[in-house]
Amino acid sequence: MSNLDTLVQDLVIANRILAREEVADAYGHVSVRDPDNPNRFLISRSLAPELVGPDDIVALDLDGQPVRDERRSLYLERFIHAAIFAARPDVMAVVHAHAEDTLPFGVTPATKLRPVIHLGSFIGHEVSVWDIADRFGDTSLLVTNMAQANDLAQCLAGNRVALMRGHGFVAATPSLIEAVRVSVYLPRNARALMRARQLGGEVRYLSHGEIEAHNRGYSPHSAATWRAWEYWANRAGCGHLLTRPDSGHGESPKG
Ligand SMILES: [Zn+2]
Repeated sequence: MSNLDTLVQDLVIANRILAREEVADAYGHVSVRDPDNPNRFLISRSLAPELVGPDDIVALDLDGQPVRDERRSLYLERFIHAAIFAARPDVMAVVHAHAEDTLPFGVTPATKLRPVIHLGSFIGHEVSVWDIADRFGDTSLLVTNMAQANDLAQCLAGNRVALMRGHGFVAATPSLIEAVRVSVYLPRNARALMRARQLGGEVRYLSHGEIEAHNRGYSPHSAATWRAWEYWANRAGCGHLLTRPDSGHGESPKG
């Protein structure tokens, strides 16, 4: 199996995990940059993540256009991925989804979504909120062109996560497994924060130092990372698609 085939397979796994962990439902998508051609990225055609298989993966350029003839429908919001990959050479994977627990924080500017639990540290200490109305007025709230997507990428800046007012979030990370991991723990951190606020009193957020300390030793190829990837993939019913680090196919688990 070539490295590209492995990457396609990993992307299928990522889709299934996001569906199983209820980050995505019929909507939401995940993409990965082609390491051999950084001006392209891989993403499913327009399909619910739970149903994505290897044949559904298409290659798009950094304008969000297919690099080969493609008659099948593509995601309307694919421009989000194109703009972030174009703006952020460090980013190898992007998730956009509408996870319900993140939504309240996009519509209440006074309450910042920041890490309050150790696994929430993956989201980073700054989570900005992008409001499409600021530059584009009344829209459907969907990101349907490069101008809107570039504006979102600008709001994301160098961070890992941005919320989209009344819509969802984007996560942008240096590897596919990190994109999945951030996207799984973002709603969990949001839930913990909401419940903490219901208890009343001051909420103790993680300090910058704690966030840094937690993220410092992270490697996308470590045994601990593989453990999560393997667990999620099996829970999502696609453990058979895993490429083990010792199988001789490509590098260690890309996750
Ligand atoms: Zn959306």
